[in-house]
Amino acid sequence: MGTSGTADARGIVGTADWGPAARVRDMGTSIFTEMTELARRTGAVNLGQGVPELASPDALLKDVAEAVLSGNNQYPPAVGFPALREAVAEHQLRRYGLDYNPAGEVLITTGATEALASALLALCDPGDEVLAFDPCYDAYAADARLAGARLVAVPLVSDGDGFVLDADALRAAVTARTRVLVLNTPHNPTGKVFTAEELAAIAEIAQEHSLTVVTDEVYEHLVYNGVAHLPIASLPGMRERTLTISSAGKTFSVTGWKIGWVSGPALLVAAVAAAKQFLTYASGTPYQEALARALGSVEEWAADLRETLRHNRNLLSEGLTRAGLRPYRADAGYFLQADVRPWGYADGVTFCRELPERAGVVAIPTSAFYESADAPVWLVRFSFCKREESIRTAVEQLITVR
Ligand SMILES: *Cc1c(COP(=O)(O)O)cnc(C)c1O
Repeated sequence: MGTSGTADARGIVGTADWGPAARVRDMGTSIFTEMTELARRTGAVNLGQGVPELASPDALLKDVAEAVLSGNNQYPPAVGFPALREAVAEHQLRRYGLDYNPAGEVLITTGATEALASALLALCDPGDEVLAFDPCYDAYAADARLAGARLVAVPLVSDGDGFVLDADALRAAVTARTRVLVLNTPHNPTGKVFTAEELAAIAEIAQEHSLTVVTDEVYEHLVYNGVAHLPIASLPGMRERTLTISSAGKTFSVTGWKIGWVSGPALLVAAVAAAKQFLTYASGTPYQEALARALGSVEEWAADLRETLRHNRNLLSEGLTRAGLRPYRADAGYFLQADVRPWGYADGVTFCRELPERAGVVAIPTSAFYESADAPVWLVRFSFCKREESIRTAVEQLITVR
């Protein structure tokens, strides 16, 4: 290492002529790593990361084991096994009335993560802009950057105990360089489910400005309170410009398997497949085979999982209230936000750094999910995809310290 590089805050060193490229220089360790390390060191209950402590369907696990033992361990087709593509197409038709041809309009990927990265690599040229809502899942900005594009975040607006779309702000954020809009519903980290009216407003803007919409719907089955998830692809005029992404990880509590899928018009899916083949080519043969069967009866499984998660969410929400924090509404997903100002904290980062020592609990500052500068810094994210006893312990500890 002859030259002296400049380390950024997270420690990745690079110069113009040696070392890591600019596109990864601020992608080093994040607040997630810091908080997970804190949890490990202090033995705190980790309600930070969204790693589920939830059961998976027995039949699915057995099917995977059988597939492995029977020798189905070689490369699957690059676009995924036909049976899984058919199961995805059937799922989209059965649930949402969306009709896709499993040959050409459905692609199996290495998790939603690879689908998102491939989609942005496939759709963006250097200098393009990608719109997303703030707060947002951290992969979107990183993927835009890998594609040489730039994420422009439009903040969701607080309506008291939740978040709503500001359609005027979205329209105002569109420029001549905007190519793609990334929409995540049900939403991480807020637990928001975009309403039919909000989706219609987004669809109108996308059509007005010829944007391609990439949707992240990995929490599509984890919706509570009778709220309905609606894919934007099912709105008039949207099928032709939308790539819909989902995955098995959250639906079946198998986040380590990394099987995802994309559905959309053939032209867009082919573009995603072109990028994807040079990332992983293909993966997960035994998982793909087993999931093809499981997806056919996902509704039965998801009904129980939803009940578990709804119960956990209520426990956590009531517990946070009793601890004197102010939880927000969460209609879906794994997470809810809480306002930490009642405990005398102005910002969530300080709260989260002190919480493991004070209460034996780990949370993540919601500001970590903001790309723009105007984050509500007093919010922190707690996850409830945990065993009931983990949530009970965390809540009791929070109430004791209050
Ligand atoms: C968990 C998660 C993903 C990642 O999905 P994988 O299938 O595990 O790659 C993508 N988007 C959101 C919003 C998530 O919460």
